[in-house]
Amino acid sequence: MPMELETNLSNIQQKIAAACEQAQRDPSEVTLLAVSKGHKIDRVHEASDYGLTCFGENKIQEAKLKIPQGPRNAEWHFIGHLQTNKARDAVRLFHMIHGVDSFRLAEALQESCEKQARTARILLEINISGEASKHGFSPAEVIEQIEELNDFDRLEIHGFMTMAPWTPEPEKTRPVFRQLNDLRKECEDVMGVPFPVLSMGMSNDYEIAIEEGSTIVRIGTSLFGKRSYAKKKKSP
Ligand SMILES: *Cc1c(COP(=O)(O)O)cnc(C)c1O
Repeated sequence: MPMELETNLSNIQQKIAAACEQAQRDPSEVTLLAVSKGHKIDRVHEASDYGLTCFGENKIQEAKLKIPQGPRNAEWHFIGHLQTNKARDAVRLFHMIHGVDSFRLAEALQESCEKQARTARILLEINISGEASKHGFSPAEVIEQIEELNDFDRLEIHGFMTMAPWTPEPEKTRPVFRQLNDLRKECEDVMGVPFPVLSMGMSNDYEIAIEEGSTIVRIGTSLFGKRSYAKKKKSP
């Protein structure tokens, strides 16, 4: 339903603009990453027709099928939990990998990049809330390991990513986003290099995230509607 997508997009863009105004930021600093996981490639083309260029996927299998059928100018971002044995595909397929959540994964990505003579743009995923169900470095771990992580010569660390706990009151997520921004500044001080990208904010909480400095908001449901996952076939 093209009309629906157009309406959703214009609502989101208005809210992004309002949050930027509230925080006295320039809306051009905020990228809308359209999270297309669980949606057919037609929806991506439709979104592309409305000017969106950045798309997010969280499963390598799904991405492998969709990306070759996508718009030519699309920029694909991996936003899921990446297993080390899929590092090779992730490096090949994606413009940026958001969820680098362990030192082991960084090592695997470095190795895949060497084999493919590529570099990878990455974001380090931080588990700010400390929830056991979430992946990522703890803030203390990242401070401790940032120097070694930055030494991987084929990984460009552009910044950080986090997921806030779901809550019916998005305002409650503010401290999580603020802590990620503080952690970014701390890492910049330690390393003396900029980490400009903050990937934070989803359908439920992106306005708060923008007020706290987000530069990439990852929005699925508010843009495309509910996801309908196809049933998984058992692998032979
Ligand atoms: C699915 C997903 C999103 C999008 O979530 P919505 O609530 O549908 O906007 C954002 N980030 C990550 C990491 C996701 O897995």
